[in-house]
Amino acid sequence: MKRSKVEWVFICLFVPSVIGFYAIYKYPEFLLGSGVDTRLLGKNLSFWYAALYTAVVCSIAGKVILKNKNSYSFKANITQPLSSYQRKKFTSIFLVQLVGFFLIPYVISPIMAGKSFWQDELIYSSKAAHVYLYPGFKSWGMAIYLFVVIPVFVWFFGKRYCSWICSCGNLAETVGVTVWGKKWVKEGTPRGDAANKNHKIQLAVMAFAIFFGVLLLVDSMKVVAMPGLLQKIQAIQDFFVDFMFGSVIGVAAYPFWGTRIWCRYGCPLAKFMELSGRVSKSKFQVAANEKCTGIGLCTQACPMGIDVASFAHVNKKPTLGSFGLQNTVCIGCGGCIDVCPTKALSFKK
Ligand code: SF4
Ligand code: SF4
Ligand code: SF4
Repeated sequence: MKRSKVEWVFICLFVPSVIGFYAIYKYPEFLLGSGVDTRLLGKNLSFWYAALYTAVVCSIAGKVILKNKNSYSFKANITQPLSSYQRKKFTSIFLVQLVGFFLIPYVISPIMAGKSFWQDELIYSSKAAHVYLYPGFKSWGMAIYLFVVIPVFVWFFGKRYCSWICSCGNLAETVGVTVWGKKWVKEGTPRGDAANKNHKIQLAVMAFAIFFGVLLLVDSMKVVAMPGLLQKIQAIQDFFVDFMFGSVIGVAAYPFWGTRIWCRYGCPLAKFMELSGRVSKSKFQVAANEKCTGIGLCTQACPMGIDVASFAHVNKKPTLGSFGLQNTVCIGCGGCIDVCPTKALSFKK
């Protein structure tokens, strides 16, 4: 991948910043010593983490909406306007990130609980940076959300949760349409049979999440008490899955492997959505029409490493193929559709 000096400077700052940021966020006592006041301007680190993350996501999403240009085109001078699908998607990303992942947990909830904004007693203090399945075994609310609401959503909309709503997906989607982000997706995303075979890793992460969830359930029902074991498993999952895989590899490696490594090989919720889409025969499909001329830009734009062009043509002759969750890990971002200059792809209604 060709990179300018400015991009290298950015990478040299970005990678250690991401690792350091997540490390301090997740392990402040370990890194800074216990008893050290880790607050900044009276606010907890979790608040600043969410504020910075939201600022990055919302500034890029807002710019895409205001610029009103096709955000997936590889051309330098883009003349095509932003499609209505992408306008809705980036508006959803902007609002969900700002309201759902920042204002409600960090500003509105504390104020509604009678605390002043500058009081540091957080209502919401999750240290998990990513989305998991095991909380579904800990509370009825999460169980209904993860095992009822999400599968119903998947049946109607496929895995669009990952490109319209999820906080981790919000960063991947927004960075993925910046100039460097598009290049990282195009040239860094692992593709081909070997890369796809590694999707089995995600199945293993999902199995681990369910195993941990069942242990938590058994413990909460007081069938068998195992606090020491649960603490150890929680520590393993926090370090290896959430920190190393989800944060260090998943975000710091954007410039090398594209924006969706964690979503493709790690996230247990993604694998669960994919499987529930297959079981429920989700209506979600991307379909190719007779306008395909076989240029292959769709494959290059896909952050999930899907060979979209293989469904659209053989030897540049259109094949009118389609795909969904039964045969791909598609998240419905619409990048392949918008990058195609002949408008040969669309979502099936
Ligand atoms: S794959 Fe997981 S982390 Fe990625 S966007 Fe989907 S739910 Fe979020
Ligand atoms: S669908 Fe569009 S981008 Fe993909 S190969 Fe066909 S013409 Fe090219
Ligand atoms: S196949 Fe198209 S819609 Fe699906 S993830 Fe890839 S680029 Fe996005």
